[in-house]
Amino acid sequence: MIPLDKIVNLALACGFHACGVSKVERLVGSEPYLLNWLNNGYHADMGYMARNVNLRFNPTLLIPNAKSVISVLLSYKSMKLPINREVPKIARYACGSDYHGVMKNMLYSLLNAIRAEFGEINGRAFVDSAPVLEREWAVRAGLGWIGKNSNLIHPKLGSFVFIGELIVDADVETTDNVERNRCGTCTRCIDACPTQAIIVPKVVDARKCISYLSIEKREPLNEDEKEMLNGWCFGCDVCQQVCPWNKKGVELDCQNFKKENLVGLRRDDLAQMSETDFDVWFSGTPLERAGYTKVKAAVDYILKKG
Ligand code: SF4
Ligand code: SF4
Repeated sequence: MIPLDKIVNLALACGFHACGVSKVERLVGSEPYLLNWLNNGYHADMGYMARNVNLRFNPTLLIPNAKSVISVLLSYKSMKLPINREVPKIARYACGSDYHGVMKNMLYSLLNAIRAEFGEINGRAFVDSAPVLEREWAVRAGLGWIGKNSNLIHPKLGSFVFIGELIVDADVETTDNVERNRCGTCTRCIDACPTQAIIVPKVVDARKCISYLSIEKREPLNEDEKEMLNGWCFGCDVCQQVCPWNKKGVELDCQNFKKENLVGLRRDDLAQMSETDFDVWFSGTPLERAGYTKVKAAVDYILKKG
């Protein structure tokens, strides 16, 4: 059995800000939530969310002999730039290099560090991967609770965190304490959501959510959907900005994500952005996922509205 503190120390040495471990088992408690969300159509046209549902509840189907899930967090609270604060706004997590690649490299460094100390161990890294219910694993690893805005909230780091997992075939001592939900009677995220997308606590209807509309929706937005953007041309931070746990959240350095090209970008730059500008500024950032045409259409609509 690999001691928990050894794994946590290796994760911190690799640059992660928090780490916990849970035992691989079927996520029985999550099934009704996810199935209800899918059955209600809250996933909109994100068909990948509905695929491989069985894999999501049972990681042993992803990794043979999977025994432990090592969950890690990396705070991106310090990623804020002018383009995150003035219309047309870009979600904070996107103001830097795409986290998928950065986090995966860091997770494989962690796996190598574990192998160097504990011998041959098989594992696979996951970052925002559709088959893995990463927030649920992070909760089980004692890294926080799922807030009413449906984000994972760590008591010290807040919710501006990237989540990743290493699923390994080794027995690792698990985190004992699971954080209790500390939202209490607060409803700030539900009240502040500009589109009332948080239907009930922890349930977001993607069809109304600005993040989905500005990033994931494949078809061009109709007039009603454009109206819902509320100044955001890529993503939306409102339900996190208002959360008191993010006011407490520690500002941690995340140099791995820094993109010098974005540092001085302002509203006027976005207003006149050509496809070449987009490539120069945003290649290697999450905005590539939406692409120039989608982002530019949102920028133009928002600026025209004034
Ligand atoms: S991301 Fe924005 S639109 Fe989506 S639930 Fe949060 S506040 Fe509402
Ligand atoms: S704003 Fe309040 S209710 Fe919403 S996630 Fe934060 S603490 Fe929970």
